[in-house]
Amino acid sequence: MANLSSPAASRGRLAVLGAGVVGLCTALEAQRHGYAVTLIDRNPPGTGASFGNAGYLATELIDPLATPATLASAPAMWLDPNGPLSLPLRYLPRALPWLTRFIRAAAPAAVAHSRAALTALNRAAVPAWQRCLDDIGATEQLVRSGYLLVWESPDKLEAARAHARSLAQQGIPTELLQGEALAAKEPALAERLSHALFFPNACRVRDPYQLSLCLLAAFEARGGQLLRQEIRNITPQAGRIQLETADGASFHAEQAIICTGAWSKALLQQVGLTVPLEAERGYHLTIEADHLTLNHPIGSAERRFVMSPLDSGLRVVGITEIGGLSLPPLARGFAALRHHSSQLLRHLADPSLKISEWMGHRPTLPDSLPVIDRHPSHPRLLFAFGNQHLGLTQAAVSAELVVSLLRGQPPAIDPAPFRVDRF
Ligand SMILES: Cc1cc2nc3c(=O)[nH]c(=O)nc-3n(C[C@H](O)[C@H](O)[C@H](O)COP(=O)(O)OP(=O)(O)OC[C@H]3O[C@@H](n4cnc5c(N)ncnc54)[C@H](O)[C@@H]3O)c2cc1C
Repeated sequence: MANLSSPAASRGRLAVLGAGVVGLCTALEAQRHGYAVTLIDRNPPGTGASFGNAGYLATELIDPLATPATLASAPAMWLDPNGPLSLPLRYLPRALPWLTRFIRAAAPAAVAHSRAALTALNRAAVPAWQRCLDDIGATEQLVRSGYLLVWESPDKLEAARAHARSLAQQGIPTELLQGEALAAKEPALAERLSHALFFPNACRVRDPYQLSLCLLAAFEARGGQLLRQEIRNITPQAGRIQLETADGASFHAEQAIICTGAWSKALLQQVGLTVPLEAERGYHLTIEADHLTLNHPIGSAERRFVMSPLDSGLRVVGITEIGGLSLPPLARGFAALRHHSSQLLRHLADPSLKISEWMGHRPTLPDSLPVIDRHPSHPRLLFAFGNQHLGLTQAAVSAELVVSLLRGQPPAIDPAPFRVDRF
């Protein structure tokens, strides 16, 4: 059995499981506080859900996914072949327990609870990213790009105004744009658009995968170890955590943090905890074409998808598919994104465009809150996973929070809503 301990470590060896954006930020944050860190992933870092997201820091999304409005619109969204919601029938029996909890999470008191907790996390999200990127000399990864939320139907003008008023109450300024002002802001958009809200302070990253590589490079330059292994078993022991890999090898570390995104449920079962975590599948198209770009990330309020200008190309993302970890991607998801983006962008019919397709797994709990906590019975084991559609947005702040818990320091945000045993 190998020992991951290093005599040079001032605070002992910490194993961080999962090298997605949450694990990478957590590993770096722990290093900052003197931990010797081993980051473990079965795949190359940054190639899980963190690879294919829209790169948008969506701090304005403070409503949980389960609300009375979502439930009311769900059947129509599900029946629409190009709709944003998918639930493959063969997965329905397995999804039922999660769906039942999701429906319960739409009760008004539960929505208010999740909204308050998401507001606290999202408010701290961009400053946490700035601290993380400042520290590793990579501030160029974050761009204050602004964001456009667009509507096609003029009937929805009042909806946009009401949304702007509600955002203003949270301190998020927006500007209503119509006609020529909208066309001047984003010339690549089709003329069919009626109006938009512009978020001048919104940020995106230059490219999610590039960001992960940049975090990894800083982690390794600071002496962090990367281990390419699949962890199968976790056993808390006296004074340490034992980790067993898929090929039967064993390691131990003084402490460990599980950041394995949508795959965390099985690992938690190993240590006696049950969490209702679902893999909420999302799809993307990345379009490589120099002449086809946008000035800002753009969200469609009606079609519920996002287009984002990244260094790797123009990325179109969307679809919420309750489909678990093992089904292959469905062609319908890519077709819907092609359909919607062709409605909103000029020039998308160009046959010379190179378009790549990808599907990834968002880690989603019924109340839309992550788990950021310490094991109730094994204090050397901690967790940071379950950031649903907001894992990129919340990665740096989640890392700060879990490392405060690790250090026994009072966290800057009340961690009670993120407890692992809340279900
Ligand atoms: C289409 C799409 C668009 C999105 N757009 C945005 C966006 O614009 N903004 C935003 O904030 N969020 C967005 N998200 C959500 C965001 O991408 C995720 O919430 C986030 O990437 C989750 O990060 P993570 O580190 O928790 O998980 P992951 O990136 O999935 O990383 C988990 C890692 O754990 C590893 N792992 C799992 N099990 C084991 C094991 N047993 N042993 C070893 N390693 C293991 C995996 O290999 C993986 O590398 C989007 C998601 C999708 C799918």
